[in-house]
Amino acid sequence: MKKNRDLLVGFHVSIAGGFTAAVAYAASLGINSMQIFSKNPRGWSAKPLDRAEALEFRAKRKEAGIKFVMIHTCYLLNLASQDEELRGKSVKALAAELERAELLGADCLNTHVGSCKGCPPEEGIRTVAWSINEAFRLCRNSPVLLLENTSRLRPSIGGSFRDLGAILKLVDDNSRTGICLDTAHAFGAGYDVRSAAGLNSLLKEIDSEIGLLNLRAIHFNDSKAVLGSGIDRHEHLGMGEIGKAGVSLLLKNPKLRDLPFIMETPRSRPEDDRKNLSTVLRLRVFA
Ligand SMILES: [Zn+2]
Ligand SMILES: [Zn+2]
Repeated sequence: MKKNRDLLVGFHVSIAGGFTAAVAYAASLGINSMQIFSKNPRGWSAKPLDRAEALEFRAKRKEAGIKFVMIHTCYLLNLASQDEELRGKSVKALAAELERAELLGADCLNTHVGSCKGCPPEEGIRTVAWSINEAFRLCRNSPVLLLENTSRLRPSIGGSFRDLGAILKLVDDNSRTGICLDTAHAFGAGYDVRSAAGLNSLLKEIDSEIGLLNLRAIHFNDSKAVLGSGIDRHEHLGMGEIGKAGVSLLLKNPKLRDLPFIMETPRSRPEDDRKNLSTVLRLRVFA
């Protein structure tokens, strides 16, 4: 079990100034974990990752004491698409993302499952699993692929851990998969993490559908949108609908103790990250 000082805490960090600038920013905050995109998240194309740049990122990361790095896939991927062309493009892009994550020495690659726009959920679930199996065939070596829960309600898929579990059961190689819990998305999808009972029932569902050991990371965000709204809007910790009590419950839950808490909180003022970080450091203390 990790000591308090070794608990994993970090942010999604911009790569606008390059990979090493992202590490420098993380180091300036004093965090030991980070999430980045490995390319422009809003475009399909990417220039091939430069080997020297990737090696420099690995070296700088080590130097800065960053213990956990996750990469978030590009937003255009739709692993559930019923459109053959879009699905094919998404599979190739996922395989390329897996390769880039491997080269960068990341601990995991996080992705959304996509949507099948009105098709029956069972069909969407089967399609996502098929897409992941294909991408794994195209890229044999990679860090663990995490499926992130969404805030979307049925008939969309991915908002419940039952959906994510159903997808993972159809994936051939579960040694390569896990899940990431986004707290704002879970709240938007109707999981009431403001109470101990609500949080316990969420963790019970994850355990029975997927296995708590396969929960590998937390996207730690408060939510601007109300419980069960189906809306994904992140807010500063303690200032949203999850609020101070819910944020504190999540930070103090012993079952989540050893997981990286990565914030994707708004960054409109320069001091925002420090404020959210201080909330986490103040409350995430175990006896
Ligand atoms: Zn995400
Ligand atoms: Zn997230």
